[in-house]
Amino acid sequence: MTLRSAGRLRPRPSGALAAALHESASRHEHLCPRQVLGARIALLAGRELGLRLPRRDRRLIVIVETDGCFVDGLAIAAGCSVGGRTLRLEDYGKVAASFVDTETARAVRITPHPQAREVAIRFAPAAENRWQAQLIGYQHMPDDLLLSANPVRLVASLAELVGEARARARCDGCGEEVIDRREVVRGGQTLCRACAFGAYYLAASSFPAQGRRQPVVECVATRRRALLADRG
Ligand SMILES: [Zn+2]
Ligand SMILES: [Zn+2]
Repeated sequence: MTLRSAGRLRPRPSGALAAALHESASRHEHLCPRQVLGARIALLAGRELGLRLPRRDRRLIVIVETDGCFVDGLAIAAGCSVGGRTLRLEDYGKVAASFVDTETARAVRITPHPQAREVAIRFAPAAENRWQAQLIGYQHMPDDLLLSANPVRLVASLAELVGEARARARCDGCGEEVIDRREVVRGGQTLCRACAFGAYYLAASSFPAQGRRQPVVECVATRRRALLADRG
């Protein structure tokens, strides 16, 4: 399909895309371009790997590179979830995802085409703004104008990626339990990643003062009382 003809052609979203968007929008309480992008990425991954989606088994593992709306569309179309241990987040702050077929070890990483935002406008000539153009355009653009798919190879083994179920260790640093073989052995010590590499949190003896803000309703009532007292 040429870009020139795109505005006129506008095929309807496929059944799989429409179903994924319907479910994603109802869970998400709105439909936005990022959800469409996520669903399209998942559906392309299914075709690239020759897998029917959404999966009801654990054959497909997805690593997403950001969180947010994009993941909702993707997770529903792919049938993957964090709870099902088939969806993992490596937060690179990128709208991108890799899909791994655990049976064949084939993997594909899919990103939006760098020009997708601009091209979307040509697929939604009646759109009122860029957001709406992306929302509509992303549903109708052909894969090669919307997305870019490349085969990849995982750096770690699948077993390492998924972790070893039922494995349990005790951290020599903090004493907390570590499951799925996520512990690190350093200088003869078994450590959790927080103790080995530094945690995202610091222990605090109490909540900081600014964290205990007065609830808004109470604030208004207090201010009104003060005002009335001032007026006498
Ligand atoms: Zn959204
Ligand atoms: Zn620890």
